Amino acid sequence: MLSARFKPHHVALFLGKYAWLTARRRPVLVHFEVTQRCNAHCGFCDYWKTDASAKATELKSYADAARFFNPMLVTFTGGEPTLRRDLEDLVAEVDRAISLKYVTLITHGAMLTPERALSLWNAGVHQFNISLDYLDERHDRQRGIPGLSAKILAAIPGMRARGIDNVRFNTVIKNDNLDQILPIVHRAAELGVGVNFSVYTDAKNGNKDFLIDGDALEHTRAVIGDLLAFKRRRRGVITNSDYYLEQIPRYLRGEMTEPCRSGIRTIHIDPAGYVKRCPDFPTDFHWRDFARYEPVNCNACYYACRGEAQAPLRLSRVRDVMA
Ligand code: SF4
Ligand code: SF4
Repeated sequence: MLSARFKPHHVALFLGKYAWLTARRRPVLVHFEVTQRCNAHCGFCDYWKTDASAKATELKSYADAARFFNPMLVTFTGGEPTLRRDLEDLVAEVDRAISLKYVTLITHGAMLTPERALSLWNAGVHQFNISLDYLDERHDRQRGIPGLSAKILAAIPGMRARGIDNVRFNTVIKNDNLDQILPIVHRAAELGVGVNFSVYTDAKNGNKDFLIDGDALEHTRAVIGDLLAFKRRRRGVITNSDYYLEQIPRYLRGEMTEPCRSGIRTIHIDPAGYVKRCPDFPTDFHWRDFARYEPVNCNACYYACRGEAQAPLRLSRVRDVMA
């Protein structure tokens, strides 16, 4: 499911840009981590402990970096990016800096009113990804934000009424939300939004509380089977490739041996402009001194961004995109 802002002829243009970036060995996707500050209190991430003084080192514009990399996919992420009052300006400058791009915003959604979403949409955001791991108050407790899940679910009709036609839930599969996975898919379908799944690991801060092991492994395998069956009946709601979903049980069993290609197809740029291969690695150099990464022998996570970069182009993937 892509925004109606994009027309069929854009597919050919994006394919051309993809080939151009690949030939130049440049990242296809650049994540701009515009702040590491966050007003949630997730137990599996330490970004919220970032001191407020870090604001002083956050870049006032990412346009030069955007022009330098000229990627086809741009993500604004954090921390919590909507904490930046100048986020619309940051988005609009990057929008002007790159002629052909697809721009996503990742947010916990607590401050994403339909009005703020429209303002960001008009600035150049093409897709909103809102974190949602549970439909009930468990989500509020884990994020440390009372009423969060209800607020997210209530905001979506208002966003859609304003013409925002491309919203997805980012849902992390954990040992304690396996009962929520299919219900989240069904709620997304009712609301006219998509769902993008990742699987939990302790890569962010070593918190093992939500790791899937023991009895939860078999339960997870069954849930993945349900997701694949849903995709066979209806494409366009679950946005992961079949390949990524199929590989999750293998990753959880410790059988994944392929090197990680994060840093090659995708890079992260931290708030001060320094590049890291993925969100959970330290920075290596300023974006002006960018040096190409090689695959790394790391198995610390199996986020969708890692798995999708490894996914072969199958007919099912083409059907996902067309849906
Ligand atoms: S996981 Fe996201 S919402 Fe939670 S503390 Fe980290 S940046 Fe904030
Ligand atoms: S597996 Fe890849 S994406 Fe995950 S932490 Fe390691 S380098 Fe980063």
